[in-house]
Amino acid sequence: MTDIKLYNTKTRRKEVFEPIDADNVRMYVCGPTVYDRAHIGNARPVIVFDVLFRLLRHVYGEKHVTYVRNFTDVDDKINARAAESGRSIGEITGETTQWYLDDMAEVGALEPTHMPRATGYIGEMIAMIEALIAKDHAYAAEGHALFRVRSYENYGALSGRDVDDMIAGARVEVAPYKEDPMDFVLWKPSSEDQPGWDSPWGRGRPGWHIECSAMAKALLGDVFDIHGGGLDLQFPHHEDEIAQSCCANGTEEMARFWMHNEMLQVEGKKMSKSLGNFFTVRDLLEQGVPGEVIRFVMLSTHYRKPMDWTEKKREEAEKTLRKWYGQAEQGLGKGEPYVAAVQALADDLNTSQALMELHQLSNAGDVAALRYSLQLLGLMGDDIPAWVNATDLSAYEEKMFEARQAAMQTKDFSEVDRLKAAFIEAGLEVRMSKEGVELVPSAGFDPAKLEGLL
Ligand SMILES: [Zn+2]
Repeated sequence: MTDIKLYNTKTRRKEVFEPIDADNVRMYVCGPTVYDRAHIGNARPVIVFDVLFRLLRHVYGEKHVTYVRNFTDVDDKINARAAESGRSIGEITGETTQWYLDDMAEVGALEPTHMPRATGYIGEMIAMIEALIAKDHAYAAEGHALFRVRSYENYGALSGRDVDDMIAGARVEVAPYKEDPMDFVLWKPSSEDQPGWDSPWGRGRPGWHIECSAMAKALLGDVFDIHGGGLDLQFPHHEDEIAQSCCANGTEEMARFWMHNEMLQVEGKKMSKSLGNFFTVRDLLEQGVPGEVIRFVMLSTHYRKPMDWTEKKREEAEKTLRKWYGQAEQGLGKGEPYVAAVQALADDLNTSQALMELHQLSNAGDVAALRYSLQLLGLMGDDIPAWVNATDLSAYEEKMFEARQAAMQTKDFSEVDRLKAAFIEAGLEVRMSKEGVELVPSAGFDPAKLEGLL
């Protein structure tokens, strides 16, 4: 069996991964708060942990890996979005959840085994908070329930922080109902117009951190193998999860391995709306950037290094993938992923090395191994992606151009209008200039709808 080594944030070193139960390898990854489209940075942990999910399935067997990723569907950002848009919370979270699933499928992410929604586990959260209060790790005050941070001596161990330093430098919220500014909210009261559930502390809603502890316990047990998420979640979110779970469950640890992916930048700059370099996965797809290209660019940087999204990388990724797909198309029949590519992934998800190994396969013309290695990396399914063999649009562009030239003379634009409508119906964006016509396929482009137009 392939030895998998993973960098464990908890111990700050690469360790050989040995599952608690090889028949059921268990992983939890913090999922999105559903109130808006996923931006390109949100796709990074999804792709990183999807590669790990695929690797674990490859090594331990598809039926022997349980992967849980949650949806946070109760949150003040959602409430704010509902208030400003005049739409219901359920409408917003339902729509955004589906967007997320669609967009992540486009970048080749398998659906996790379980995708629990926080609002489906309120009872479990209340039970966990009650257990924490019973053990003096938490207390109730003014409609709130709060975790008593100083009651848990290992608090801060994951991120290597000392509680007093955290107070000095942190943005901890001081509130009259808190015994200590470091204490964090497990439950808070809801006003009439906010979503709320009955609880021993009055009508209210959970703090954010408790949902992951409750859902992980319900679906994976008190202690499981891997907990993942973005580096931005390490503190306080993951520290709080550990404190809640270990204190409520009476365990030494919540997960054996903690893994964190680094953040994403765009053209060397932090992504932000004010810099104008903020875009969503859907924006890219609609510009005609295939999901496989997005995934390739993400995999070209190791997950523990900051990732820089650049236009140059996108172009090169598409060129490489076109070449590889062209070869892999010939690689039918029996085959296995390339051992060296599997080993690269098994070495703390060294995806950039795995891509180097695929370059080797391509150069050597080993088309079957290339095909199966592309599948292991999630860069293709059973078939070559449709965009690779997309219809040559030049003949259609020429026809449109000629129709327009003719219409300029006759002033009869009916043919131009007919073609334009057909192109749009097929999922093409029509760009016309003096020099010519350009047809740009969108993510939903269906070449079959062009039949008979020429
Ligand atoms: Zn979480």
